[in-house]
Amino acid sequence: MAHEEKVSKIMKQGKAGDRLANSQEILSLAASLARLGPWNFNLEKHVFEFNNEFYSIYGTDIAKEGGFMTPEKYLHEFVHPEDITKVKEMIQCMCSFREQEFIGEMEHRIIRRDGATRIIKAISSASKDECGNIIKLYGANQDITERKILEDDIRSNEELVSLAADLARLAPWEYIEGIRRYKFNDSFYAIYGTDVATEGELMAPEVYLKEFVHPDDAAVVKDCYEKANASRQPDYVNQVEHRIIRRDGEVRWIVSRHRTIRDEHGRAIHRFGTNQDITERKLTEEAVRKKTDEIYHLAYTDALTGLANRTRLNECLQEELELAICGMSVGFVLFIDLDDLKTVNDTLGHSYGDILIAETGKRIAENIGNNAIVGRIGGDEFMVIAPGITEKTAIDRIAKNIIWAISQEVRINDNSFHISASAGVSMYPADGQTAEEIFKNADNAMYAAKNSGKNGWRFYDAEMHKTVYEEMLLTNGLRLSIERGELSLNFQPQVTVTRGEVIGFEALLRWNSYEYGSILPSKFIPLAEKKGLIHIIGDWVLREACKFARKLADNGWFTTFVSVNISPLQLISEDFVCKVCSILNETGVKPSQIELEITENALIESHSQSVSRLNELKAMGIRLALDDFGTGYSSLTYLQSLPTTTLKIDKTFVDTILVEGKQREIIKTIIALAHTMGMAVVAEGVEEKGQIEFLEKYHCDFLQGYAICCPVSESEAIRFYQENSRA
Ligand code: C2E
Ligand code: MG
Ligand code: MG
Repeated sequence: MAHEEKVSKIMKQGKAGDRLANSQEILSLAASLARLGPWNFNLEKHVFEFNNEFYSIYGTDIAKEGGFMTPEKYLHEFVHPEDITKVKEMIQCMCSFREQEFIGEMEHRIIRRDGATRIIKAISSASKDECGNIIKLYGANQDITERKILEDDIRSNEELVSLAADLARLAPWEYIEGIRRYKFNDSFYAIYGTDVATEGELMAPEVYLKEFVHPDDAAVVKDCYEKANASRQPDYVNQVEHRIIRRDGEVRWIVSRHRTIRDEHGRAIHRFGTNQDITERKLTEEAVRKKTDEIYHLAYTDALTGLANRTRLNECLQEELELAICGMSVGFVLFIDLDDLKTVNDTLGHSYGDILIAETGKRIAENIGNNAIVGRIGGDEFMVIAPGITEKTAIDRIAKNIIWAISQEVRINDNSFHISASAGVSMYPADGQTAEEIFKNADNAMYAAKNSGKNGWRFYDAEMHKTVYEEMLLTNGLRLSIERGELSLNFQPQVTVTRGEVIGFEALLRWNSYEYGSILPSKFIPLAEKKGLIHIIGDWVLREACKFARKLADNGWFTTFVSVNISPLQLISEDFVCKVCSILNETGVKPSQIELEITENALIESHSQSVSRLNELKAMGIRLALDDFGTGYSSLTYLQSLPTTTLKIDKTFVDTILVEGKQREIIKTIIALAHTMGMAVVAEGVEEKGQIEFLEKYHCDFLQGYAICCPVSESEAIRFYQENSRA
C-alpha cells in the first residue's frame, strides 16, 4: 500500500482508534517517507537502540540485527571504512560534551547490507541534568544520497557555467531598479581591469558611461539604454557592441546583451545582462574585412587607372540589364577607344602609352557624373555605364565633353602629346536585351565612329550591325584570298611629262573575291589594316612587285622601277627593313628598281622611327616616294627632313588644275619647292589633256593617270612599255 493511502486510512479511523497509537504510526510513516531513522543511545548499557525505520536505511531490519548495537559494532558493520574515524570522533564528542545541551550534525557514508554506499546525515542531540550528568542521548539518521547527488550536480554545473563564462570572458550584471544602480561583481570588473574592492559593487549608469565607455561609442550605448527604457515589451532583449577603456587604458571591444522584464503595467521589474569581451573576434573580423576589401579591390579594379575593370563592368552591365528588362532602369553605355595608341606604344614605348591611358581614364571619370561607372576594358578601351540617362542631347553633350577632354594636350617629360578617341553609344534596353548585346553594339558604334574619321562618337543603329557583320564576312574572305589566288597586281605606268616615256609602274592591288566579286582597295586595304592582315598581304604585294621588276630587268629594262604602296602599319613594324631586304634577295631584284610609296600621314603618326627606317632603306638604294601629297597636313618645310626622292601630287589637287586658279598657284609652288629640295614630282590621276599642258608648263616631271594608261595587267603593262619605251 502506498504511503499516502496508509496515512489517509489512519486519519479516517478517527475516534475508533487509539489517538496516540495513530500519531505514532503517522510519525513512523513520515519518518520512512523522509527516509529518517531515529535512534536512542542507552547510556546504561552503552549501546544504540535502533528500530525498523532506522534499519530500513541500512537495508535490513530489527529481526536480523536485533534492537540494539554497540557503537563499535555499528562503526564496523555499517560505516564506510573511510568515514569511521570521523564518526568515532563524533560519538566521542557526543558522549563527553561539556555544555548543558548538545546538538551535533554530520554527514558520512554508510554501507548498506546489500553493499550499496549511501550518504546519510546524522543528527544527534543530548541533554544533561543539573549535576552535569547526561540524561538523554538520541538522534536520527537520514539518507540524503539523492539530495547530495543533486547538489553535486548543481555545484558542478555552476562551476562549469562559471568556467565557461570565464573562458568566454562573459560577465553577468544586474540593474537594481529601486536605487537605479548597476550591480557588478569581480568577474564583471575583470573585463575592465579592476575589481569590486576598487570600484564598489554598485554603479550608476552615468558613472559607468563616463568611466568605462569609449567616448566615441557613448552615443550608441545611450541609444541602447533608451530603446530598452522606451520598449513596453514584457520581455525585451537587446544588444550593443562598443568599445570600452579599461582601467589600464587599453581599449577593448565588448558586446553587452540586455534583458528587461516588465510586469503587466509595463514597469521594469528585472533588468540584467552580460558583457563579453569580443576584442579578438573584432580584430579577426576587421582583418577579414580588410582582406575581403583588398581582394574585392584586386578583383574589380584596373591596376593602371584605378577604375573598374572588365569583370566589374560586366557585372554592372548585367545588373543594369536585369533591372532594365523589368522596367526598373534605363541608361546608356559609352564605349571609348583611343585612336592610334598603338603608334605611341610602338614608337615611344609602353610607359608613354600607359601614362596616356591613365590620363584618359582620369579625364573620362572627371567628365561623367557620380552615378556612372567608368572602367577600362583592356588596352586602350574604356567603358562608361550611365544609368538614368537616355536623352540624346544629354548623351551627345557627355560624349562631346569626354572626346574633347581626351583630345586636350597631355604633357609627359616636357613633351606634348595629342591623342584622340572614338566612341560609340548604345542605349539599354533599347539597343539590346543582354549585356553582351549592349556591349557589342556600343563597340559597333565605336567602329563606325572610327571609320567616319575618328575623334568623334556615334549612336548605335541597326544598320551598323549589318556593316559589322558584312565586315566580318569580308575579313574572313580576305584572310583566305591569298591561298585562293584571288589577289593580283595591276600596274599603272608613270611617264615623263615631256616625252611620254615610261620610267616605272605603280603596283596596285586587286582583289577578285570568289564570294563578293571585285572589291576596291579603298574598301579592303583599311580592313586589312584593322584586322592585322596588312602584313601578310603587304609581303605578298612586295614579292609580286619584285617578280615583275625582275621580269623587266630580265627584258633588259634595268632602270624601270616598280612602285609599291606601303601601309603605315608596315612601316612601323620592326622587321620591315629586314623583310624588304630578304624579298629583294629572294627575287634577285636591285634596290634601285623598287620604289616604296609612303603617305604623309604614316610619317606624321610615327615620325622619328619611320624616318630612320626610311633612311636605312634609302641607304640601300631603294627609291622613296611621298604618296597623296596635299591630302595630309605636312608642311613643305617638314618635307625637308624626309629622305623621299619623289613627291606624288594627289589626284584631288590635279583635279582642280582646270577649275581653280588659286589651287593652280599652289601646285606651281609645290613643284618648284620639291625641285629645290631635290625631289622629282609625279602628278597622279591625270585625266585631261589640259592638265598635262599645265603640268608640263610648270615643269612637273612625271605623269600617272587614265590619260596615259589605266592600271593594267602585267602583260598589258609590258606591252605598254614596249610601245612607250625610251629607247
Ligand atoms: P594610290 O596609291 O594613290 O593609288 C592611285 C589610285 O588612283 C589607284 O586607285 C589608281 O587606280 C587610281 N588612279 C590612277 N589614275 C587615275 C585617274 O586618272 N583617275 C582616277 N579616278 N583614278 C586614278 P586604286 O588602285 O583603287 O588604289 C587606291 C588606293 O589603294 C591607292 O591609292 C593606295 O593608297 C591603295 N593601295 C592600292 N594598292 C595597294 C597596296 O598594294 N598596298 C597598299 N598598302 N595600299 C594599296
Ligand atoms: Mg600610291
Ligand atoms: Mg596616291
